[in-house]
Amino acid sequence: MSGVSIRQLRKVYPNGHVAIDSLDLDIGNGEFLVLLGPSGCGKSTTLFTIAGLEEPTAGQIQFDGEPVEHLPPHMRDVAVVFQSYALYPHMTVYDNMAFGLKMRKTPKPEIDRRVKEMAETLGISDYLKRKPRQLSGGQRQRVALGRALVRRPKVFLLDEPLSNLDAKLRMQMRLEIKKLHTTFGITFVYVTHDQVEAMSLGDRIVVMDKGRIQQLGAARDLYTRPATRFVGAFIGSPSMNFVHGRVRNENGRYVFYGEGCRVYLKNAFVPKGLGADVVMAVRPEDVRLSADRHGEDGAGVLRGAIDIIEDLGPEKHIVVRLDERTFLVRADSGSTPVSGAPVTLTLPGQKLHWFCADDGARLSTPFDERGDAAMKPVLQATNQA
Ligand code: ADP
Ligand code: MG
Repeated sequence: MSGVSIRQLRKVYPNGHVAIDSLDLDIGNGEFLVLLGPSGCGKSTTLFTIAGLEEPTAGQIQFDGEPVEHLPPHMRDVAVVFQSYALYPHMTVYDNMAFGLKMRKTPKPEIDRRVKEMAETLGISDYLKRKPRQLSGGQRQRVALGRALVRRPKVFLLDEPLSNLDAKLRMQMRLEIKKLHTTFGITFVYVTHDQVEAMSLGDRIVVMDKGRIQQLGAARDLYTRPATRFVGAFIGSPSMNFVHGRVRNENGRYVFYGEGCRVYLKNAFVPKGLGADVVMAVRPEDVRLSADRHGEDGAGVLRGAIDIIEDLGPEKHIVVRLDERTFLVRADSGSTPVSGAPVTLTLPGQKLHWFCADDGARLSTPFDERGDAAMKPVLQATNQA
């Protein structure tokens, strides 16, 4: 296993497209790191430059402190798993898995032992004599994982390995990949555009946009303190409510004048940049919905009516209409919203996120700056069936 450090990495494709723009990243030895971002943000390019399949335009890549930029892929001791599996169609599962070891002149009995052991781990022992086309998508993906891992690479690189699988299988394979990481303890770098996959797998997640790192952190940090508006919008489903506006001081009282709503703020919850264009954001599960007319201390209180109710089983998504805008609220399955009913929305100050309207950077509040109080868990476990 090996740690990876990337310095000032830049990749400009021959057509002039800047796919990666001065990327700095340290991946710990044995860490499970996820690169997350929308299609085209540069995830695969980053992964392929680590693998040596793409040559960086500038920058350094080191494995355990040793530069590897000059090394071809097979000298870097990495293994890559692609979305497309890329199995050899004419070879059996056994031969597919044995291929890399044969190329490295591993003794036959050793190959046999390792392939069979890996097949056992992945639950594909019964298919060793089959050709890839005789396997289901999930089985093929297991073979691809096995073929890569059987070589015991220092760094395991995965590029959207589950994208071709249906939702149920994807979830199952997700757990298996997590287990593989625990079992083998090697460094995993995993690319996905799926935030759920990223949050469930990654020790840390790198959120990328347009070839740049937006934020790097544990899933909970990204969720509770998105560093940019982009991260706030990208992580969490359903997405945050965003409201453009300005915060003003009116005779010592702070008021956020947002599009279609007005929110009074206690001093602790006033973002930096008074009077500037800002975006207020609040997660659907942080908006409290009640039928009475009283709001809570220090919180923004809004009056509206229930517009749309989506019952998803374990939770409900409720669209509340104010005069000129809507808010999405996430409520638990026990709530009993009634379409058209008047309601009060409470926006707890400590659950509000603020971003600069220009560059999307997070704006801190005095509450934010007190630190750990703001890191309180926001997600609640639901025990209901
Ligand atoms: P992701 O994996 O996040 O979807 P990629 O790393 O594949 O993104 O691509 C990043 C950007 O670089 C995209 O805009 C893509 O169109 C562009 N790109 C990728 N490969 C090439 C190439 N060979 N030539 C030119 N542009 C490319
Ligand atoms: Mg890609």
